[in-house]
Amino acid sequence: MPLTEDQLAEIAAQREAAQPTRRATVPALETMLFTAIPLLDHGFVRVIDYMGDDGAIVQAARVSYGRGTKRVSEDAGLIRYLMRHRHSTPFEMCEIKYHVKLPIFVARQWIRHRMANVNEYSARYSVLDREFYIPAPAQLAAQSAANRQGRGDVLEGQEADHVLALLRDDAARNYDHYVEMLNEGADGGPLDDARQGLARELARMNLTLNTYTQWYWKTDLHNLLNFCSLRADAHAQYEIRVYAEAILDTVKAWVPAAYQAFVDYRLGAANFSAQMLAVLRRMLAGDAVEQATSGLSKREWAEMMEILAR
Ligand SMILES: Cc1cc2nc3c(=O)[nH]c(=O)nc-3n(C[C@H](O)[C@H](O)[C@H](O)COP(=O)(O)OP(=O)(O)OC[C@H]3O[C@@H](n4cnc5c(N)ncnc54)[C@H](O)[C@@H]3O)c2cc1C
Repeated sequence: MPLTEDQLAEIAAQREAAQPTRRATVPALETMLFTAIPLLDHGFVRVIDYMGDDGAIVQAARVSYGRGTKRVSEDAGLIRYLMRHRHSTPFEMCEIKYHVKLPIFVARQWIRHRMANVNEYSARYSVLDREFYIPAPAQLAAQSAANRQGRGDVLEGQEADHVLALLRDDAARNYDHYVEMLNEGADGGPLDDARQGLARELARMNLTLNTYTQWYWKTDLHNLLNFCSLRADAHAQYEIRVYAEAILDTVKAWVPAAYQAFVDYRLGAANFSAQMLAVLRRMLAGDAVEQATSGLSKREWAEMMEILAR
């Protein structure tokens, strides 16, 4: 359960409030606003605020005085043109802010996306919750033999049980030591009146990387789609991919035309180098091209064949 009863009540109260506005709002995203989408075992992502809609992309592209939109099909056509030709700045006119709860090792990957504004829960100021990510059995896999940055077959039987026990025990023991060093009970009072307790900023260094942290993360649509293209991709680690996929669901509700253009021209598309295009042209002309005669390295050839599903 990622949220307490009190937190759920706070969200419900915020969802009750409504303000009239002249700004563009998107009914499909309004229905999702503030609600946590549960992810992994204790994580979530929820939309806190947003600015703009599909119309704002078009409005900026046309530098209009009013809404600047025409027929829906014309607007979608312009958005698709902008996406196809990588005219990125109109997409930067839309902004969105998320509240994310995620394991620290996922946060370390996420924070590499620099084009965003972040404010993280302070473990210098507050005590972190006793919540650790423990993978579901289906995610407990061996190192991939083919990909140094990937997983292979799922662990089974005793090995899986042993690994799960180690993950649980190490996280629990380190957290117990964290609390002991802090000398702070659940009520905030000292566990032992005779001890001062170690500062929070130091005690936290003992925690395992699967401990959950939280942040507010704000970015614009262009950089959000860059994040999603890298992290919703099959090559991204499962634990960050689930967040990117949940974010894509919110993007679909928010800016459906931009979402569809992104799916068509980025997520479901592929880049070919000049040499790959030359190979493709030779194939289309009926030439039986082999890797050795293609001018591509073995790795490029394998990547190209994967894209072509050959
Ligand atoms: C599958 C995968 C594996 C990865 N493996 C590793 C790894 O092993 N080690 C590792 O360190 N990282 C790794 N990364 C992180 C990766 O190298 C990028 O740092 C990360 O994906 C952020 O991408 P980005 O630069 O496009 O995003 P952002 O940081 O959001 O930047 C968006 C764009 O803004 C511009 N920009 C932002 N900041 C600057 C700047 N300071 N100077 C110039 N231009 C800037 C660039 O054009 C950039 O493309 C991995 C990422 C993925 C998806």
